[in-house]
Amino acid sequence: MLNLIQLPYAQDALEPVISTNTLDFHHGKHLKGYVDNLNKLIVGTPFEKMSLVDIVRFSDGPVFNNAGQVLNHNLYFKQFQNQASHQTDERICISAPKLSKQIEKQWGTIAAFKADFESMGTSLFGSGWVWLSAREDGSLLITQESGAGNPIRSGWDKSGEILKPILTFDVWEHAYYLDYQNRRAAYLQALWSIINWSAIEELY
Ligand code: MN
Repeated sequence: MLNLIQLPYAQDALEPVISTNTLDFHHGKHLKGYVDNLNKLIVGTPFEKMSLVDIVRFSDGPVFNNAGQVLNHNLYFKQFQNQASHQTDERICISAPKLSKQIEKQWGTIAAFKADFESMGTSLFGSGWVWLSAREDGSLLITQESGAGNPIRSGWDKSGEILKPILTFDVWEHAYYLDYQNRRAAYLQALWSIINWSAIEELY
């Protein structure tokens, strides 16, 4: 039996980037719906005793769709903080020293990395997720996933290497339509100001 995660901040903490209204629907209705559906689908099946990560790795069809969405949203919601703690590119380097060093090694600047990540979000066709993951050697990779996709399973290449997702932007319309309507690029750009880089560094 999986539970809906509690948000590590107040419902209005992410204003104006993510409104209270969007958060109410996104966490309280969309994510809750995926959790409830998944719990119904796995009752009496071998998935009932598996971890969420293993369900995402080994399931297909409706079980995978709901499990993937639960895992993806859990990471998405936990990576934010109030805009008052906004971290400029200079402060990202202080809050996430190891990660920012790797970003600068691969992209040159934090700004260039952000631009690359945003463009992967705007160019993703339809509903899905943009991911920043770490390879086993510590190098970083940006990938796109459709639907409920998550890099821990998607066979993004044939090496069989396990990727560790550390940051994700939800580009399903339900994530931004109430606040930004069709302006997906504006939503993606705004998200940087509520990212908790210390939390991302911890995952990395
Ligand atoms: Mn969502």
